[in-house]
Amino acid sequence: MIKSVLNNNSFSKQDIKELLLSDKSDTALLFEKSFNQKKTHKGNKVYLRGLIELSNICSKNCYYCGIRRDNKRVSRYTISDKEVIEAARFAYNYNFGSVVIQSGEVQNEQNSKKIENLIKEIKKLSDGKLGITLSCGEQSEDTCKRWFDAGAHRYLLRIETSNHSLYKKLHPNDDMHSWEKRVKSIESLKKVGYLTGTGVMIGLPYQTIDDLADDLLFMKKKDIDMCGMGPYVEHFDTPLFNEKNSLLPVNRRFELSLKMIAILRLIKKDINIASTTALETIRETGRIDAISVGANIIMPNITPVSYQKKYRLYENKPLVNKGIEKLLLKFDKQLNPLGEEIAYGEWGDVR
Ligand code: SAH
Ligand code: SF4
Repeated sequence: MIKSVLNNNSFSKQDIKELLLSDKSDTALLFEKSFNQKKTHKGNKVYLRGLIELSNICSKNCYYCGIRRDNKRVSRYTISDKEVIEAARFAYNYNFGSVVIQSGEVQNEQNSKKIENLIKEIKKLSDGKLGITLSCGEQSEDTCKRWFDAGAHRYLLRIETSNHSLYKKLHPNDDMHSWEKRVKSIESLKKVGYLTGTGVMIGLPYQTIDDLADDLLFMKKKDIDMCGMGPYVEHFDTPLFNEKNSLLPVNRRFELSLKMIAILRLIKKDINIASTTALETIRETGRIDAISVGANIIMPNITPVSYQKKYRLYENKPLVNKGIEKLLLKFDKQLNPLGEEIAYGEWGDVR
């Protein structure tokens, strides 16, 4: 049964639901095919993006996120320019192809200017060689353009869920948290010229298999270049924590996340798919498991540890404090049996 679905050239919503609901040997067939597609279209390489968690200051109040504006227990920080440059230089010295600058959402001139300057400095210190991805929330087209002109060339903005009414349940019902605006922002990033990525959380309260199938069809329709998606992991200090008893068990959320990655690889064969940190929160081997079903990007956290502790979107976030050499060695060891290797010094973009 699943074999005939897997042989289809293009998946209907029904096909996707069948794949999401597959079990045991059927799931194994899905994963085998998606990993083969990854190898065919992306080679046996895994690209590194060093993650810099620039600031946990956020003007938004998403119900699921630990650093939402109204969480008064968060001690807020913004990394100094000097420390960001140091982290980027570190990534460059370790021959990472790219860095990702991620932060809470702040829309003001001071922030726009700071990030614009940082982008220019990172480009300068690396002779233009470090690729820069941004993940700093919704911004005006003008700001996005300034950052693009400064040298950033990828932008990640998750839609969180393609279901408009589910989105409303996960966010305050105001102008600042509008699903329509978020979609427009994704479109505007493409217009500015960014390689544009989106993604969703998997295993959210009230989320159905239909929603997840629609999420994949949304990504297909938007013709995205990249995707970062992973399990929803609850945070006790957020309003959505009240729904914790209605959640799927973490192992189910984990498995669904792998299936989402695998199916996306079959739908969008040559895009970059990140193996996200939230996967590692649930299972220690999570990030490698995602590679083995079709992801091809790993984002080691290179934020100074004292800040990493304060950037908690969800609970049990793993901290990287053992040194990057050890981490890279571990990845190498885990990737080897899969016939995969880290592509040092390469961007690995679609175009
Ligand atoms: N502020 C920016 C970027 C940082 S948040 C933005 O929101 O786009 C990056 C991502 O973290 C969000 O898109 C969301 O999908 C994810 N996230 C937030 N809280 C989470 C949680 N509790 N579990 C899993 N992912 C979460
Ligand atoms: Fe802010 Fe992003 Fe968290 Fe929403 S998900 S509260 S925008 S950091």
